[in-house]
Amino acid sequence: MQNKSCDVVIVGAGPAGSIAARDIAKAGFDVLVVERKQEIGPPKRCAEGINVRGLLNVGVKPDPRWAAKGIYGAVIYFPNGKSLKIDQRKVPDDVMDAIYSGEKKPALEPATGYVLERKIFEKHLAADAIRAGARYMVKTCALDVIKDGGKIAGITAEQMGEKFEIRSKIVVAADGVDSRIAKSAGINTTNKLSDYHSGFQYEMAGLNIDPDVLHIFFGNSLAPKGYVWIFPKGQDVANVGIGILGSMSEDGKRAKDYLDKFIESRPEVFKNASAIEMNAGGVPVSSSIETFVADNFMIIGDAAQLVNPIHGGGIAIAMNSGALCAKAAVEALKENDTSREKLYAYEKKWRETDGVKMKKLLKLRAFLEKLTDEDMNKAADIVSGEDITKLTDGNYRFLFKTLLTKAPSLLSLAKKFLS
Ligand SMILES: Cc1cc2nc3c(=O)[nH]c(=O)nc-3n(C[C@H](O)[C@H](O)[C@H](O)COP(=O)(O)OP(=O)(O)OC[C@H]3O[C@@H](n4cnc5c(N)ncnc54)[C@H](O)[C@@H]3O)c2cc1C
Repeated sequence: MQNKSCDVVIVGAGPAGSIAARDIAKAGFDVLVVERKQEIGPPKRCAEGINVRGLLNVGVKPDPRWAAKGIYGAVIYFPNGKSLKIDQRKVPDDVMDAIYSGEKKPALEPATGYVLERKIFEKHLAADAIRAGARYMVKTCALDVIKDGGKIAGITAEQMGEKFEIRSKIVVAADGVDSRIAKSAGINTTNKLSDYHSGFQYEMAGLNIDPDVLHIFFGNSLAPKGYVWIFPKGQDVANVGIGILGSMSEDGKRAKDYLDKFIESRPEVFKNASAIEMNAGGVPVSSSIETFVADNFMIIGDAAQLVNPIHGGGIAIAMNSGALCAKAAVEALKENDTSREKLYAYEKKWRETDGVKMKKLLKLRAFLEKLTDEDMNKAADIVSGEDITKLTDGNYRFLFKTLLTKAPSLLSLAKKFLS
């Protein structure tokens, strides 16, 4: 294999890497993406849920080729069995405008969220980046960064036993949780065990459940400091999964054991259901890494731990970080200055936008982790579906007033973690 050179080499063809590749290529720069898997997409390791705004924000319109099911809200189930519905049947006007822009009839029925067919979605993102001018190499593993006089100048990679170099002005690490490339550049991306949810999931067919909403179940005996999800992908097909704080599980029980028990205990939903796929993986629910740029080097998506710390959702955040990274990289390349100072425009913008929300959600997570099942049941009586939407958007000022009048015993806990 011959050595190569390009303006930007991106390690990883996940949602973060492909959006960054698309936008850098669109600006006319030479981008090469290396992906260690032989096929972009599988295995999925994801519940595949995304808010429509997460797609539109990076210029991706919902498409029936990869959006399996439109979603119109959620049902939250509390430990005592009570449930609360978040009704999102009305698609906001700005979303409708964005979906309909330039089209008489959109390719897919507008919805507030979608459950994706992610294996196909990732291939489409890569194809769009290639159409914009990016080059891709699959079954190609990035091994290490190359340093010239202490400065990053590309990567070494391997394809089918052959090692070679890719020289570039910028290296982008988009290689997911525990990024190897960021570590080899000297940036620590290792998570504490307490900042990881162990995830386990079946994709199942034959379920009996409302297919138009996400179903989320809380309870410490059900999923210690985590939750169980049912994300519908069709009339009777859904991702059924669990994320638990590993350190809280009883007697060494694994996430799978908790999920199997949940399924057994609900014959009304699962009597005729069977798994058609099984996935396992760690879900980071921590804050971002300390810094995600260095001279000639940028880290995006899960590699920089840019996820929602409440539920671990990261597709939209990863894609947005890819777009912000591309913007800063293009400016830097135009000015022929790829120093940390110049590339920091990406990190600064992220910290002023998604970063602000992440800080609030980290506080909310600390508060939620302290709640007992009894506290959660109490919450079911005092908050509405809209309140839950506000909370997950990081807007919890109203909570103090609600707790003061309806559940004063939780007020000091809320003040401690949320003030
Ligand atoms: C169980 C589970 C459920 C989840 N559910 C949801 C959900 O419903 N909604 C949501 O928004 N998010 C969800 N997430 C999180 C979401 O999957 C991630 O946040 C998202 O995939 C991050 O995208 P990324 O591009 O940063 O990284 P990734 O998607 O991990 O992509 C990284 C890519 O880099 C490649 N790579 C790694 N190392 C190398 C190397 N050395 N050389 C070359 N290539 C390399 C990998 O093969 C991979 O293709 C879930 C995660 C888990 C584990």
